[in-house]
Amino acid sequence: MNFTRLSLVALILFSMESCQPEKNESTPVAMPKDPHSYSIPTDARVTHLSWKADIHVDTKTIDAVATWNIEKSEGADLLTLDIKGLTIKEVFLDNNQKTEFRLSEKDPILGQALAILIKPETKRVAVHYSVPADAEAIQWLSPQQTAGKKYPFMFTQSQAILARTWVPCQDSPSIRFTYDADVKVPNTLLAMMSASNPQEKNEKGEYHFEMKQPIASYLLALTVGDVAFKPISDRAGIYAEPSVVEKAAWEFADLEKMIAGAESLYGKYQWERYDLIVLPPSFPFGGMENPRLTFATPTILAGDRSLTSLVAHELAHSWSGNLVTNATWDDFWLNEGFTVYFEHRIMEKLYGHDYSEMQATLALQDLKETIADLKGDNLSKDTKLKLDLVGRNPDDGVTDIAYNKGYFFLRLIEEQYGREKFDAFLNNYFHDNAFKSLDTDGFIKYIKDYYQTKNNISLSDSLFNEWIFSEDLPASCPQPVSTLLEKVDAALSQWKADGRFNPTAAAQWSTHEWLHFIKNLPDALSAEQMAALDAFGKFTESGNAEILCAWFVHVIKHNYKKAYPRMEEFLINTGRRKFLSPLYGELVKTPEGKQYAKDIYAKARPNYHFVATNTFDKLLN
Ligand SMILES: [Zn+2]
Repeated sequence: MNFTRLSLVALILFSMESCQPEKNESTPVAMPKDPHSYSIPTDARVTHLSWKADIHVDTKTIDAVATWNIEKSEGADLLTLDIKGLTIKEVFLDNNQKTEFRLSEKDPILGQALAILIKPETKRVAVHYSVPADAEAIQWLSPQQTAGKKYPFMFTQSQAILARTWVPCQDSPSIRFTYDADVKVPNTLLAMMSASNPQEKNEKGEYHFEMKQPIASYLLALTVGDVAFKPISDRAGIYAEPSVVEKAAWEFADLEKMIAGAESLYGKYQWERYDLIVLPPSFPFGGMENPRLTFATPTILAGDRSLTSLVAHELAHSWSGNLVTNATWDDFWLNEGFTVYFEHRIMEKLYGHDYSEMQATLALQDLKETIADLKGDNLSKDTKLKLDLVGRNPDDGVTDIAYNKGYFFLRLIEEQYGREKFDAFLNNYFHDNAFKSLDTDGFIKYIKDYYQTKNNISLSDSLFNEWIFSEDLPASCPQPVSTLLEKVDAALSQWKADGRFNPTAAAQWSTHEWLHFIKNLPDALSAEQMAALDAFGKFTESGNAEILCAWFVHVIKHNYKKAYPRMEEFLINTGRRKFLSPLYGELVKTPEGKQYAKDIYAKARPNYHFVATNTFDKLLN
């Protein structure tokens, strides 16, 4: 694409010259820092959104008005927003004065700039628009795709740059705004947003929302469905389809303990309520930290509370990510590395050091695999914490690097200079940077200043260069020790030596120990061994998505046909990309496997969200 913001501004100013004779030709145009947004916040930036929307579940479309309060620099005559796929009908300033707007050429990743002519006195800009049925952020589910099978369902997934596909906005994590919304839905359904939420349906199907704390656009979220609510505590509760809500509330019974534990570590929870909604299985991620209302996959309903670390993770984002936000997607590790560190600390506090070390050990294994895979795919540069995603989809940065390399880097600083100092640092970091965005350089400056001033410790540049700006995993990486997993290793060694399983030891295993067992099975397994393993662990019949996914990798490698029908059912009904990637990735390694993968994908694709199909269309075409 040869479109630039400057050329757009030039084009628009030129074409609108007659409307604004007072325009100052020498007004400098600052280039924004975020490569994934067309907005020019130094000229005009949004501060508050009033969103009015009619949700048409029958046609899978939305008619809406987004009214933005703005702040502008003197002489600025354009408000620039990001859009993708929206039909812009009309734009008004303040008291219904119609104004002109222009759209840039379409970019396949970024969409279009929507440049709106504003006046010196402009305070509010109202964009009337509609959202098409194929908006990339939104997934519309038929009744068949829900647990209840009676009503349709919809949800949005805005991160990283998909908010612009349902709300014209300055779609950069460096820009924050508050919002209110009035949303109309069929009265059989409940609407919920990343804001203050209703707990029951009303007869009109009209809901009002307020988000008084400023958020970035990627945290805009909406979901509509036949949903019930069950409280866990005064400030926390669970939303899910009526047939799922009891099971979900049981699974997340420790939610209030997690919030209190998190607060005791790093300060007060700043968003008033913390609720969680369990979505239908096509939700593409494990969880999404939409403020006040985490969106979660039902694949964490293991029936034994063993996968709730995901909730600790999404909760931790209420500090790292939602409160202190990465300024661009190149700084994504600031969101995720801090969150994984915080998640491990919550888990340690609630369930003990052995438990969190087990998770850290598994995280290190995953990280090493990811680094090997990225190098194998000629993407070594993506093993740096500080990414360079210019011209690429920021979704490419969602790998274990941001999460687990980020975690081990922070853990290294904790181990080198002591936990007490690190906790004090984190408390200050969240306090001083609350409701702000930070880039990697800003983080480095902050932590160096902090350690110098408070502890008289000088953190060396080589530490940051080695971990943030260099490829691969540094030799200084902390090494977690897990006594629980050592017992699993012993059981594996025994089985390798004499073919005998130890059911007594395994009776105590949690999901994580089973995963370690499955992932560390030998590369070569005979048909008899596969059958014996399946009889021992009852993997094929498991209801636990983590175990199924790890097991199916072996099923594909060793052509264990008995498990194929279950695997096919799993792939068709689960939309979580974390599970789909290893399975489709393993299947395409052989010609027969690839054909089989394509056959399954043809059936499964309607059940997947855009962020999943965007990944697998490339792999399976
Ligand atoms: Zn996260």
